[in-house]
Amino acid sequence: MVGSEQDELEVGEKISIKDILYESRFFIVNLLGIIGFVWMFYELITGLGNPHRFFCGFSMLVVCLLNCYWRMFFVTGFRHRYFSHRAFKNKVPRWLKWLIRTPHHEERYLRGMQMLEAFFATADAQKGVIWWASHHRHHHKFSDTVDDLHSFEFVRNETGSFWKGFYHSHVKWVLIKKYKKADYDKVPDLKKYPELMFFEKARGYLIAPILLGVACFFLGIGMGIGGWAMLFGGFFASTFLTYHFTFFINSLAHMMGAARFDTGEASKNCGWLNWFTMGEGWHNNHHHKDIAAAQAILPEEERSDVTYQILLILEKMDLIKIAYKYTEDDIAEARRLDSLARQNRGLKKRELATAEAS
Ligand SMILES: [Zn+2]
Ligand SMILES: [Zn+2]
Repeated sequence: MVGSEQDELEVGEKISIKDILYESRFFIVNLLGIIGFVWMFYELITGLGNPHRFFCGFSMLVVCLLNCYWRMFFVTGFRHRYFSHRAFKNKVPRWLKWLIRTPHHEERYLRGMQMLEAFFATADAQKGVIWWASHHRHHHKFSDTVDDLHSFEFVRNETGSFWKGFYHSHVKWVLIKKYKKADYDKVPDLKKYPELMFFEKARGYLIAPILLGVACFFLGIGMGIGGWAMLFGGFFASTFLTYHFTFFINSLAHMMGAARFDTGEASKNCGWLNWFTMGEGWHNNHHHKDIAAAQAILPEEERSDVTYQILLILEKMDLIKIAYKYTEDDIAEARRLDSLARQNRGLKKRELATAEAS
């Protein structure tokens, strides 16, 4: 467990003003994001009769979505599948072997790449990759039990309130003091790198988001639509989306959809979540086999796992090596379970119809 006994969370416990102030940065970024959206839509609506205003609103929207999805890729591909689960590793590509020839150079290259990936991952303002991975590994170990950080199921059952369960799993857990620090016991493979530990403190994990915010400000000036407009629309509104799309995986992916595998906890597969989470909607598949780089199993599901499609391209470029790929046997097993679930649903429907008729 993270934190001391005194820090233990009582289910339904209210967050103190002190804790809220501690995480006020989080509220401020959300508030600035909402202001960014209001600004963006104001420009778009008033721009219907004014081409310059429309261009301004449209540019804010495009940059907002671009900044949202490239950062979501670093959440799903790197924070989650690489740093938390080690589902693939970096490698020296064939086409760089002429430059990187000794084991010493190879180690420097791999650590440099890993540091760069951690740096870009922190652009989403979700603290360091070690903090993130340690809490995520904890979630996998204790999913939907009293020790889970963000269980919808457990909190709903304890409090009897759907909304308390949703609020806790989606955002409240981030505000709880005992989760402020990483649980370093869970990440011995990551904490041994000082260059990754650098991103655990604010001076490290705030560099990338601040640089991105400044870049958006100057982009707005360069495009003639105003630095503040682009800072709010292109950066803060986008950061708001990236936060909540990430949180959807902790909350909605344990609430909505159906479970293909009996994993002993409440994770679900939910197709529409993939639009926001680049493939993380296959959350029950993921809990079933967390070492797999793909979260979709069936070939017809694969296109919705955009993160995995990008990882396959990186593997083709010889930049990474994927640890585990689903086999024909895995696919056959998933199809068998789907067919069984369909039969059971049909049986239940027939039983219900018979009961209603009699
Ligand atoms: Zn995971
Ligand atoms: Zn989960």
